[in-house]
Amino acid sequence: MKVVLVGFMGAGKTEVARILGMRLGIPVIDTDEMVCDWTQSTVQEIFASEGEASFRARERQVVRRTADLQEVVISAGGGSWLDEENRRHLSRGATVVHLSVSPGAVLERIDDVERPLLAGKGAAEVRRLMRERAPAYSLAAEEIDTTDLTPKEVAERVIRTCAPGQSCRSPAEPEELQVQVDDPYRIVVGEGMLKAPVSFLSGVLSGRNIAIISDELVWQLWGRAVRDDLDRAGYRTATYRFWGGEKCKDLQTVEEAADHLLCSGIDRHSTLLALGGGVPGDVGGFVAAVLLRGIPYVQIPTTLLAQVDSSVGGKVGVNHRLGKNLLGSFHQPRLVLSDVTALRTLPEREFLSGLGEVIKHGFLAGGDYLDLLCKRQDEILHRDPAVLREVVAGSCRIKEGFVRGDEKDQSQRMMLNFGHTLGHALETASGGRVAHGIAVACGMGAAARISGRLGVLPSEGVTELENVLRGFGLPRCLDDLSDPPDRERIMAEVRHDKKRRDGRMRWILLRSPGDPQLSEDVPAAVALENL
Ligand code: NAD
Repeated sequence: MKVVLVGFMGAGKTEVARILGMRLGIPVIDTDEMVCDWTQSTVQEIFASEGEASFRARERQVVRRTADLQEVVISAGGGSWLDEENRRHLSRGATVVHLSVSPGAVLERIDDVERPLLAGKGAAEVRRLMRERAPAYSLAAEEIDTTDLTPKEVAERVIRTCAPGQSCRSPAEPEELQVQVDDPYRIVVGEGMLKAPVSFLSGVLSGRNIAIISDELVWQLWGRAVRDDLDRAGYRTATYRFWGGEKCKDLQTVEEAADHLLCSGIDRHSTLLALGGGVPGDVGGFVAAVLLRGIPYVQIPTTLLAQVDSSVGGKVGVNHRLGKNLLGSFHQPRLVLSDVTALRTLPEREFLSGLGEVIKHGFLAGGDYLDLLCKRQDEILHRDPAVLREVVAGSCRIKEGFVRGDEKDQSQRMMLNFGHTLGHALETASGGRVAHGIAVACGMGAAARISGRLGVLPSEGVTELENVLRGFGLPRCLDDLSDPPDRERIMAEVRHDKKRRDGRMRWILLRSPGDPQLSEDVPAAVALENL
């Protein structure tokens, strides 16, 4: 459920959103607060130093960033709803509730709060602004008059309107598994752990200084609760946040993070928490690998892709202008803490991208895990937390099986590249438009068809894989994509894949579910025919 609260200043949006978040057990984003956190300034300071237009531009960026979130309460800054583009983004998949309020109540409630738009202008200005904004606010799907209500009463009415009968179930015990590498570590997969992570972390934290690396969106959704719990337990936290996305996964972000953390007193006894999807995971892991010749770190993955793949196995890296992940290292975490509750807010595209890697593990392992995916497809797509816990833990177990005994990716670990020969090429050729796991899905389809064409996999096997991808709404081939890049361009990328050896393309083919094989003998014409 996604609820967006709009309304005039003083309507109580921030407080009502906080209560709603607690009652519904979902995170809250306050767009004004996100702008302020991002710029490290107050609204008044931005108005004074950059002007209202600049504040509105930042607000638009924040609103766009939150548009595809799934289960979340958004408290939208008073003026944000007036902008048509913002309204489109805020309304996507959401119930928009206008919290209305009388001018008299506004003046009473905001008496001692500084609001740059009202500064020193009083009742006449409140009435003028309210009249001006009324047509826009009337576009909200629901309206609740807050004039004579307490924030708690307003929150109850919002719940009755948007989520009647909403109930909370108690989460099951977390599941644990060990990654058997030189320095073994645990993966803990559970629900609700990000609200109180210290009880899971305390055994692996060295020292009292904790560094946190995250992106701004994950920070607003989940990060502040993690920091607050550490603060309550007496740890000193230093946080480095960047805007987010693949473009930020570079040495500049690494250097800025190192500057910030070193200036904040992080030393070699500190532990770093890499909190977020694969991008903060890779950046955080890379910083931990190189800072002071390496400090301990914990992965706290919040995307499905990061929970089933990038947080496990210790590969950390950032992009170079000549290619993706060209700078990196192996640095195993002390612990991986995967809270499937975080997946509730994940945009659909990111969830699907993670499913690409999940299905990859299904076909690499076959057997019970593939059965689980096929039988519980609907619950997985509806993000049932209990099933997601099984899916994430099962995927991690499979990945662990490939990493154990081949920490540095010299032999069996390479099988995890099933779907990646075409997947990476497609991701690059599309300039990142096609998300990683979605590209891997196309890549698995191609690898299965090539396996069929070369007589390695029976045709029923090819059909089975394609049907599973289709069932989860994932593409099987380039033609399933709405605007695929040019095939020759993709093949050029395949030929430049960093996993090629002596100029030969490497494909992971499939003999049957659970039985992958490495091949360097796929003719280019066969590959091209089967994209
Ligand atoms: P990402 O970290 O950019 O996350 C995708 C988007 O989801 C971002 O906008 C992020 O802010 C948002 N997000 C994260 N958690 C969220 C949540 N709980 N709710 C709502 N939004 C949330 O990217 P990703 O898809 O997680 O990972 C891709 C990266 O992982 C790539 O850079 C890839 O190279 C890397 N990767 C690394 C490995 C490895 O072994 N190190 C393996 C696979 C992929």
